[in-house]
Amino acid sequence: MSGRPLLDAPGALGEVGPDETREFRARLAAGDFCLQRCHGCRTEHFPPGPACWRCGQVGLEWLPVEDPSAVVRSAVTIHRSFMAFADQVPYAVVLGELRAHPGVRVIARLAGEAVPIGSGVELVWTGDPSRAGYHWEPRP
Ligand SMILES: [Zn+2]
Repeated sequence: MSGRPLLDAPGALGEVGPDETREFRARLAAGDFCLQRCHGCRTEHFPPGPACWRCGQVGLEWLPVEDPSAVVRSAVTIHRSFMAFADQVPYAVVLGELRAHPGVRVIARLAGEAVPIGSGVELVWTGDPSRAGYHWEPRP
C-alpha cells in the first residue's frame, strides 16, 4: 500500500467507495439524504448498496427522506476516535429508526449529550464531505 491512508485524506468520505456510496454522497451534497428502495419487493435500505438484501434484485431506486425524525434504538459513547471525529471525543453514536420508514435504521454521531433509548432524534444533513455529512440531533 502506498500514498496517504484513504480515510485520512481530506474529502475522502465523498471520493472513495462503491458506486452507490459515491451516488449517496453526491445526493447528500446536493441536499438530499436518500435511502434506496427495491423495485421488486419494495424493501427500503440504508446504507446504500448494489442489491436488495431481501430478494437480491439489483438497481435499487433512490428515495429522498422527507421526514428525518427517528426513535433511538441503541446508543454508545465513543471515548477514543481517529480521523475526522478525533477532536470531538467523547461523543455519542446513535442507531435511530426513521419514523416514516419503519425498519430503516441509520447510525450516526449525536450532536450533544447521550440520550436514552426510545428518545426522539432528528437526522440533520450538512453534506460536509470531511465528516460523515449527517448527524443526529435530540428532538423531544
Ligand atoms: Zn427486494
